[in-house]
Amino acid sequence: MTSVGLLVVGSGPAGVHAAAAYLRAGGAGSVLLVSADRDAPYQRPPLSKGVLAGDDPVEGTAILDDEDDLDAWRRVEVELGTRVEAVDVVRRSVLCDDGRRLPYDRLVLATGSAPVPLPGADADAPVHLLRSLEQARAVVGALDGAGTVVVVGSGFIGCEAAAALAGRGLRTVLVTPEHAPQAARLGDWAGGRIATWLIAAGVELRTGVEVESVARTGVVHLGDGEEVPADLVLAAVGVQQDQPLLRTIDVEVDEGRVVVDAGMRSTDEHVWAVGDVAAAHHPVAGRTLTVEHWGDAIAMGRTAGANAAAASLDTPDAATEWSDPPGFWSEIGGHTLKYSAWGDGFDRASVVEHDAGSFTVWYADEDGELVGVLTHGCDDDYERGGDLLARRATLAESLETGG
Ligand SMILES: Cc1cc2nc3c(=O)[nH]c(=O)nc-3n(C[C@H](O)[C@H](O)[C@H](O)COP(=O)(O)OP(=O)(O)OC[C@H]3O[C@@H](n4cnc5c(N)ncnc54)[C@H](O)[C@@H]3O)c2cc1C
Repeated sequence: MTSVGLLVVGSGPAGVHAAAAYLRAGGAGSVLLVSADRDAPYQRPPLSKGVLAGDDPVEGTAILDDEDDLDAWRRVEVELGTRVEAVDVVRRSVLCDDGRRLPYDRLVLATGSAPVPLPGADADAPVHLLRSLEQARAVVGALDGAGTVVVVGSGFIGCEAAAALAGRGLRTVLVTPEHAPQAARLGDWAGGRIATWLIAAGVELRTGVEVESVARTGVVHLGDGEEVPADLVLAAVGVQQDQPLLRTIDVEVDEGRVVVDAGMRSTDEHVWAVGDVAAAHHPVAGRTLTVEHWGDAIAMGRTAGANAAAASLDTPDAATEWSDPPGFWSEIGGHTLKYSAWGDGFDRASVVEHDAGSFTVWYADEDGELVGVLTHGCDDDYERGGDLLARRATLAESLETGG
């Protein structure tokens, strides 16, 4: 079998953009994208928002919309429902779950992350996870005739999902060990504001308490003795990186992620890794970052695609880097939050409230350097915050120039 110019594994935003960027940059040879997912590439963010709320269809929304990307994408051969089980970097080939061996000239790994299962749940308890379109269909299907839903976890996906489900008229109980949703990441003030939004959306909060077990009948037992009978439990307790595939590949892997440079290249010169599965050196942060954000997956995919193309054409000077500060957005009960941060936590949070409930929270480390910005209804501050983070401005400067 002849090698493809570029083999991409994974059909999320990172893989799809890597494939399109490779062809847009004139990369040599053909492009094959192989994915375990059976659905054509779709956007994940709507799954916990419009899809659960019943506003968006569960068919999936396409990832690409730029005409040039779409032109390039039409030239990509796509194989869905195929899992890659092993990578042989010496022979430059991958082994698929159907026994086929696919040779490549260059490889992009874009295999994402997987949701953590809920500890303590009976094997046949009505517990759902939400990562794929298929799982979203299962959740929406199970809502038929349901009266009470328990959402476990107050990360962005848990908060978004709880608000969306409550908006459908379901009794929705959100259980979290945090004393306020996302207080650990965003601080008490922002956590309090998110709690207010959730309550206004009709969500019942159970904070500072863990789920101990979920029975097959759907009864959720909380650590404080409360029992909540649920028709459906949605576990949103984080993602994990423990892919068997990465145990087969001879490149540097750290805590389940492929270590790459700012150009997304791994320790093997023919292999790039992008999106959630990458631990990437960030030139501004000056260290390795791991991020699980839609926009960064796109940026990393584009970077890897362009760089793999440059390598295929032997034009290394054309190489680019992933260098913007990481960031993402969330939508909780009709309220949009935008957040950009280096991801190491913060020592000080300065809240600036604007008109009509909008606000900006500026986060700084112990030396007074800006390390993050959270905005609601204030896109100017979000844009400016990104610039300030990129040039490692101080909190004082950020407050002076914006306010
Ligand atoms: C419900 C939900 C809502 C979200 N909302 C937001 C949001 O509002 N904002 C935001 O910034 N981020 C959001 N995220 C996070 C964002 O979707 C992820 O960071 C992003 O999808 C990561 O992209 P990726 O391409 O790295 O991986 P993924 O999108 O996870 O794609 C990985 C792909 O690899 C495939 N795959 C895995 N292993 C193999 C294998 N061995 N062989 C072949 N194929 C394989 C998978 O089937 C999948 O197609 C959300 C995530 C979820 C689940």
